[in-house]
Amino acid sequence: MNKIIKQIEDTKLISQIERVVPFHGYLSTGAFIGIQMFNIAKQILDLQNEERIYATCETYNCIPDAFQILGGATIGNKGLKIIDCGKMAVVINRHVPPDETSARGIRIYLDPNKTQKYPRLHAWYLNTQKVPHEEAIYDLQKAGEDVYSYEMVNVDVPIKQAKCVAVCKRCGEYFVCKDEETLCNTCTA
Ligand SMILES: [Zn+2]
Repeated sequence: MNKIIKQIEDTKLISQIERVVPFHGYLSTGAFIGIQMFNIAKQILDLQNEERIYATCETYNCIPDAFQILGGATIGNKGLKIIDCGKMAVVINRHVPPDETSARGIRIYLDPNKTQKYPRLHAWYLNTQKVPHEEAIYDLQKAGEDVYSYEMVNVDVPIKQAKCVAVCKRCGEYFVCKDEETLCNTCTA
């Protein structure tokens, strides 16, 4: 893997890899895709450094970690949502003022019509062959933005609700409630 990193000349990309790898555990193909998707979003939405962003990843695999580290969009700060459709895709939007209920965003996906030009990457993507991460990443860094497609989308921004705390009638534990629930999620499940 170090061999691949050494071939990369873009110093910004190298430093991004160096930040993501300790968090994710290793440089996976998906983590690399997440880094590239983040960079596309940053460029198209003209995001400033440290600007608060929201990411909705359409898979649990690898991609979310790049957005947590590079975009500061985490599970805990509600910047990161995962709607698991098993797709190599992500929707990114920027922060909007509290009275706005919609934000302009971008949906980026790894486009199989475009990965066709890169047989090893394509085989990895479609899972038609066992392809080592090194080989798939080699193609990705060569291709750059060439293998992605994107579209501009409107993202619904939920209205922040007043916090209310209730005690569950069954288990007796306190929980943050949304409406007038009398049972916690554990007890209604
Ligand atoms: Zn309960």
